[in-house]
Amino acid sequence: MNLILSVLSIDVNYTRLSIHPTFVTLEPFCGHSANDPQTLNFLNIKLESPAMNPKSEISKTILSGATIHLPAKTLKTGSVVITNGCIAEIHEGALPNPKNGAIFIDLTGKILSAGFIDLHIHGMMGIDVMNIGPEGYGRLSAEAAKRGVTALAPTTVACPAEQLRKIMESIHAAREAGVPGAKLLGLHLESNFINVDFKGAQPGDQVFSWEDPRAAAIRKLLEQYARDTCIVTLAPEMPGGIELIRWLVKHGIAASMGHSGAKYDQAMAGIEAGATRATHLFNAMPPLHHRNPGLPGAVLSSPKVFAEMVCDGIHVHPAVIATTIAAKGCDRFMPISDGLEAAGMTSGDFLLGGQHVTVVNNVAKLDNGTIAGSITTMDRIVRLLVNQTGCDIHDALRMASATPAKGIGRQDIGRIVPGAAADLVVLTPDLEVETTLVDGKVVFSVE
Ligand SMILES: [Zn+2]
Repeated sequence: MNLILSVLSIDVNYTRLSIHPTFVTLEPFCGHSANDPQTLNFLNIKLESPAMNPKSEISKTILSGATIHLPAKTLKTGSVVITNGCIAEIHEGALPNPKNGAIFIDLTGKILSAGFIDLHIHGMMGIDVMNIGPEGYGRLSAEAAKRGVTALAPTTVACPAEQLRKIMESIHAAREAGVPGAKLLGLHLESNFINVDFKGAQPGDQVFSWEDPRAAAIRKLLEQYARDTCIVTLAPEMPGGIELIRWLVKHGIAASMGHSGAKYDQAMAGIEAGATRATHLFNAMPPLHHRNPGLPGAVLSSPKVFAEMVCDGIHVHPAVIATTIAAKGCDRFMPISDGLEAAGMTSGDFLLGGQHVTVVNNVAKLDNGTIAGSITTMDRIVRLLVNQTGCDIHDALRMASATPAKGIGRQDIGRIVPGAAADLVVLTPDLEVETTLVDGKVVFSVE
């Protein structure tokens, strides 16, 4: 305990501590991903974070004069000062250019929001998470940043363990090396452990239960790459489903219920076991019925559970999006793209986990007619929420940033508050992305 107190006194930016016999691992509050811990060796204490090293050069950026969406209110005109990649100060009104070496960006007439966070994205712009190496994750990160995304969870479909191993090795390598745009939060596995009757566009021959002998190899990979895995989608009613939820919670991975035919009691048992979220609510599950509420009823009536929803205007009617926001509130509703490699494009032939997908008139379908993921992107989603569901801009931006961060336990991203990472998006009044910053650095800007 003494040690914890002394470490905390070094830098209050660090909020989470875990003790290992040899290491104290600090989960930084700012400027680094949760999987990029600063490590203090007991025998040879080394402090590498610039925020913790007074000799390191301080970089300062001033974003002045924007309409700023803070977590609880909007500043009509405000400014943000970024120091070493973190939000250091928030001011009401515009700030003058200090002409002292700080980078000064005049944002008069623009909107400044926390960057978007997409926790369910299979790919975009010709990139398919199932078929890329570390370099492909770099491209995905850069493409996502063009859409205002500052953090994402690349999403897989059910696949053999050998393929999953390559995917996990690749994302691990990409995260170690660093990426040029949006942060890689870790994988979202739309896993093998779903209900084949509600597989949607998932390959059915790779669907099996947590108790199936084939699950052992997947479990080993999840153990090995737990830090590179953010979310696992599963069906709680399948054999071993509840045990799997407990196992995921123990390994620090969010358990998400989806691709499931769970009855209300089965879904409630999943929530009781530790499931905290639902995967694309209403899609790939039986509909809400007033005498048979099922998984949707369990999710809608459980205040703590987060709900993902594909907000492309095709998977779910805008009126149902609005109804769900009303039921869950902005703090529990997470718009996702569920984007395919075709996302960001309007038509053509593409792949989803090796299956052929055709995009016609902005709708992606498998050859059997099943709707397969979407081709939307987070910037379009924010515009849809505002233009088609009656949601105000502040709430739409919050649901696209703060809520998904909260849903995976990240306090350091998704909000414009002092101490948080300066992961930001600058938008025009029409909500078109103009500039994206990650850790205070401009990673995308329209010409
Ligand atoms: Zn998906």
